[in-house]
Amino acid sequence: MSSIEKFDFNSYPFKLSGKVVVYICPKCKHKFEAPLEAVLEFEQEDEWNGLPISTPPYTVCSKCNFDKCVPIDYKSKRGYHHIYKEN
Ligand SMILES: [Zn+2]
Repeated sequence: MSSIEKFDFNSYPFKLSGKVVVYICPKCKHKFEAPLEAVLEFEQEDEWNGLPISTPPYTVCSKCNFDKCVPIDYKSKRGYHHIYKEN
């Protein structure tokens, strides 16, 4: 079982809530935290771009740079429950 990479709030230039969403990289299985504020921003962009609510708020893997990392278990502001499933 791999451990989850913690988000370093101290290195971030803005004051954040401290809430995180746990992500997984489907490619290398790296697990890491993303600050909630960033996730909400990705969601907002998806909404502006007219993407369906089932679109996960993707982010980039810090290990392998794969750009379609998804939340493991996250209920979005747009009302969709994103659950990561191994395939
Ligand atoms: Zn990766």
